[in-house]
Amino acid sequence: MEGERRLTLFEKLFFVEIIKGHMLTLRYLFSKPFTIQYPDEKRAPVPKSRGIHTFKLNPDGTERCNACGLCARICPSKCMKIAGEKIDNVRVAKDYDVDLTRCIFCGMCVDSCPKDALAMVEAYEFSAYDKNDLMLDKKKMHLYSSKVTA
Ligand code: SF4
Ligand code: SF4
Repeated sequence: MEGERRLTLFEKLFFVEIIKGHMLTLRYLFSKPFTIQYPDEKRAPVPKSRGIHTFKLNPDGTERCNACGLCARICPSKCMKIAGEKIDNVRVAKDYDVDLTRCIFCGMCVDSCPKDALAMVEAYEFSAYDKNDLMLDKKKMHLYSSKVTA
């Protein structure tokens, strides 16, 4: 094949490439390991990493979201469903559902929100055996909302 280097007779006779491979393995055998013993050891997520979705709250604990639906419209996975209602003439989100089995964690919903009402926190340990457990609703999103700084 073009560009492929042919082995010299010396390299063929003395398995030079194999010896080089073993030397490399030996070098890494005595160096500091890159791996960690998860879940006993945890790695800190990189700053601004995108984990689970949550609401940013006003200082009085109310949600900022007015159910405008912009985040759902911009979502490339079309995995968000939002329904609004009016309470005391203020529009709020009645339902806010995110299907995490389809979410690609791109963060476009967070970036597009005109009310700065949404966040994705660093929590990443939310795997589940049941697909239904990966359907986020308002109740589940509020479990993480206190972690968000306004
Ligand atoms: S992170 Fe991306 S894919 Fe997931 S809900 Fe938001 S916009 Fe949709
Ligand atoms: S999170 Fe933001 S963009 Fe999405 S519905 Fe609420 S206010 Fe609108």
